[in-house]
Amino acid sequence: MIETRAEVLEKYQLVVGLEIHAQLITSSKAYSGAVNAYGDLPNANTCPLTLGHPGTLPRLNTAVVQHAVRLGLATNCSLTREMHFARKNYFYADLPKGYQITQDTTPICTEGHLTVKDADGNDKRIGITRIHIEEDAGKSIHDQDPFNTLVDLNRAGVPLLEIVSEPDIRSIEEAYNYLAEVRRLVRYLDICDGNMEEGSMRCDANVSVMLKGSKTLGNRCEVKNMNSLRNVQRAITYEMKRQIAIIEAGGTVEQQTRSFDAVNGTTFTLRGKEDAHDYRYFPEPDMQPLELSEEAVEKVKKAMPPLPRDLYKRYTEELGLSDYDAGILTESKPTALYYEEIIKYTENYKAAANKVIGEVKTYLNRTATRIEDFPVKPEKIAALIRLTDENKVSHSVASQQIFPLMPDNPDKDPEDLARENDLLQESDDNALEAMARKAVAAYPDKAEAYRKGNKGLLGLFMGEVMKLSDRKANPKMASDILKKILEE
Ligand code: ADP
Ligand code: MG
Repeated sequence: MIETRAEVLEKYQLVVGLEIHAQLITSSKAYSGAVNAYGDLPNANTCPLTLGHPGTLPRLNTAVVQHAVRLGLATNCSLTREMHFARKNYFYADLPKGYQITQDTTPICTEGHLTVKDADGNDKRIGITRIHIEEDAGKSIHDQDPFNTLVDLNRAGVPLLEIVSEPDIRSIEEAYNYLAEVRRLVRYLDICDGNMEEGSMRCDANVSVMLKGSKTLGNRCEVKNMNSLRNVQRAITYEMKRQIAIIEAGGTVEQQTRSFDAVNGTTFTLRGKEDAHDYRYFPEPDMQPLELSEEAVEKVKKAMPPLPRDLYKRYTEELGLSDYDAGILTESKPTALYYEEIIKYTENYKAAANKVIGEVKTYLNRTATRIEDFPVKPEKIAALIRLTDENKVSHSVASQQIFPLMPDNPDKDPEDLARENDLLQESDDNALEAMARKAVAAYPDKAEAYRKGNKGLLGLFMGEVMKLSDRKANPKMASDILKKILEE
C-alpha cells in the first residue's frame, strides 16, 4: 500500500541520505598488482591476493589514495593525516578472502559538503559525512548456467570510494541533483567513469519521513539496486509514499534494507534490523597505518583538473557569459574542454559559447555523436567566428551554410570553404558602390522621398543591393555606401 493523496503527502517531510560507491579508474587493484579493467574475460584479472591465498600480503595502491584526496579536496572535506585500515568480514562466494579491507574509524575524508540546487532552484548545501577507501567484491553470475552459480573475480579487489552524505536531502530533486553533481565531479576529476548502468557508480538511498516541522528524524529504510539516476528518483518516491501510508495507518516504519524493483517501480524487503550484518570490524593486521604527508597532498593539488564550479565562476564573472550558458558549457567535462580550446583562439567568448551550445550541440544531437568524437577541431570553430567578426560572412551564412560543411571537411579552413562555395561577402567598395547606384537609380521617386526625410526607405534599397549581390553584400558596408549615395 502506498499513499497517493496530495493533502496527506503534503503533511510529511522527506529526509534522504545517500551512500555512493564509485569504482576508481586505476591500472591495478586497490591492494594488489592485478589488473583493474572492465569487460575482460571472466577471471582474467586475478592474482594470489585476489584469490585469497594464504600468505599473501596486501599493499596499498598509491593512485587510490591520490584519487581519494582529489575527491576530498573537490568536496571541501578535511583530510585525515593518519589512517588505519580495517577488515569488514562477511562470507560471500565472490569474496574469497572472507573480508574486505576498508577504513572504519579513520576515513580518509570527513566533514565536507557540496552545493546543489534544491527543488525551488536555490542553492542548498548537502553535508558529506565521510569518504573512505574500500575494495569491491567479485561477481556471482546466476543466469548463465542452469545448475550452477558462476563466479567472476575480475572485480574482486577493485578500488572503491564510498561517499556518505548527511541526512540533509529534503526532496527528490535535491537527491537527483546531489547524485548528478557527484557523478559530474568524479568525471571531471578523472577518478571514476560515473556509469550507473554498468555499475561503476552505485547508490544506496536511506529514506525516512517525518511530520513537517518535526525535529526528530523518522526511522529509515535503505534502498539498494538502482542502476540509473531516474531509478534512484523512482525508488525514493515509492519509498516515501510507502512509509507515509504506514504512519497514516497508525503503524511504525521498521528499519530495513530494501531492494528496488525497476519493473514495477516498487521496493521490497531484503532484510530487517535483526538480520543486519555484523561485520565484526577489526584493524587490518597486514597493513601499516597510512600517513598522508603534506607533500602528497600538495602534489595532488598541483595536478587537480579544473572543477566545474571554478569554470562556471570564471565564465560568468570574467568572460561575461550568462548563468544559462555557463551552466550548459560546464555540464560535462568534454564540453567544457572543447569550449576552453576554442577560447584559446578567439576572445569573442560569447560567440564561442553560442557556437558550442547552438550549432555544435545541434549537430551532435542530430548525429548521436559525442563531443569527444566531433571531427571539427575547436581551432576551426574559432576561425569561423573570426569570419563573421571580420564581416567576411554574415552570421546566418556562417551557421547555416559554412558550419554544415565543416564536419565533412575538418581540415579545411572555414574561409577557404566560404571562398570555394562562393559565400564570402561582397566587401569590395567599388563593386558595392556600383550595385548601390543601380539600386538607387531603379527607384528615383523613392530616392527623392528618402531625401525628403523618409529614412525608413533605406531598407528597400538594402533589399535591392542584397538581390543584386546574390545576398553576399556586406550589410554594414552596403548601408554606409547607400546612405552616402542617397545624401549626395
Ligand atoms: P549504516 O552504517 O547503517 O549505513 P550510517 O550512519 O553510515 O549507517 O548512515 C547511512 C546513511 O543513512 C547516511 O547517508 C545518513 O545520512 C543516512 N541517514 C541516517 N539517518 C537517516 C534518516 N533518519 N533518514 C534518512 N537518512 C538517514
Ligand atoms: Mg549503509
